[in-house]
Amino acid sequence: MPKPFRVFATCDIGESLNRLRDKGYELEVYPQPEPPPKSLIIEKVRSRIDGLITTLRDKIDAEIFEAGKGNLKVVAQLAVGFDNINRADANRYHIPFTNTADVLTEATAEFAFFMMGDLARRLWSAEHLTRENKWGFWHPYLPFLGDEVTGKTIAIIGTGRIGLAMIKKCAGFDMNTLCYDPAYQNHEYVKSIQAVNDLRHERGICREKTWIKYVSFEEALAGADFVSIHVPLLREGESSTPTFHLFNEATFRKMKRTAYVVNTSRGPVVDEAALAKALHEKWIAGAALDVYEKEPLSLDSPLRDPALEDRCRLYPHFASAARITRLSPDPDKGMAGRCVQGLIDVLEGNYGGDVTKMPYVVNKEAFTK
Ligand code: NAD
Repeated sequence: MPKPFRVFATCDIGESLNRLRDKGYELEVYPQPEPPPKSLIIEKVRSRIDGLITTLRDKIDAEIFEAGKGNLKVVAQLAVGFDNINRADANRYHIPFTNTADVLTEATAEFAFFMMGDLARRLWSAEHLTRENKWGFWHPYLPFLGDEVTGKTIAIIGTGRIGLAMIKKCAGFDMNTLCYDPAYQNHEYVKSIQAVNDLRHERGICREKTWIKYVSFEEALAGADFVSIHVPLLREGESSTPTFHLFNEATFRKMKRTAYVVNTSRGPVVDEAALAKALHEKWIAGAALDVYEKEPLSLDSPLRDPALEDRCRLYPHFASAARITRLSPDPDKGMAGRCVQGLIDVLEGNYGGDVTKMPYVVNKEAFTK
């Protein structure tokens, strides 16, 4: 009998793990809801596990790979973003790591859309009026009004999976779209959205003609009523177009004073001190954030200032937090299912054992001959 595979999961990812148990894997799951300390992950890896299941809370770098030298065969990450995993280190140690792209695309895009609606129509402030019994009378414009989303112009920064899904949702709200992406432009998709827009107008479903086009970063910022960020976190040296603090004082100054920014990508893409300043000094109208430079958001963050409360929506990294998206054991539907499948592919040598053919392995470059 071959030895069973040994796997450590830094977090419980639900019933999908039963697939590993059913296969006879020796599985240990960190029992606490909080992330384990790095020293514990190192200790587990050193105990000769074959596979490590991680989330974006775990910093995975040379220290971990060194501890797993000769034994660790795969790191399976429950997320599409993998900025917590040092790719260069994984490559140096020749360890494939997987992610859960695609299955969270629609959930994340719809959350970004809802954040935008909440911010613009002031849903949070409006509910507070009711709950705090401050809803004294109906009035045409008191105590405040929101801004419509329908018919406005949105800039999509990063037209990868989630950016394109966001475009599709915005098209349904008769929005015009400015696209910006220095590395990947999907002109076919843009053409198709334009065709749908034209048909909706032709058939009288949508009163105004709407448009979509790729533009420069500056044009996107200057022309948009809403700016939605969908880029990976890329630091200096990791890309010719890094995204660390892509949104800074200079960027916010290029936006309309009436515009709103929405970030569901990664926190460090936005310079939070600059954003707080932009909100205080009213360079822009508002912001909705799901991700932060440091998570969870610290108590003394300037974004928590009550003076900004009605123009700054703050969510707890929640965009993919929907039942099926997070936990379905079906690899085509759930992050947990896809994470487990990615682990199995590597450990059981699916795809003829060729890592470059495995759909969920990210760092294929380390395995091309
Ligand atoms: P993706 O790789 O499919 O798309 C990212 C796009 O950004 C690519 O097309 C890339 O060319 C583009 N890009 C790179 N550098 C850029 C730059 N400087 N300016 C503009 N565009 C640039 O990724 P995705 O699956 O669409 O995910 C997008 C982001 O959303 C990632 O940061 C991911 O971590 C994050 N995310 C967050 C949540 C959440 O819960 N908040 C959930 C899922 C994904």
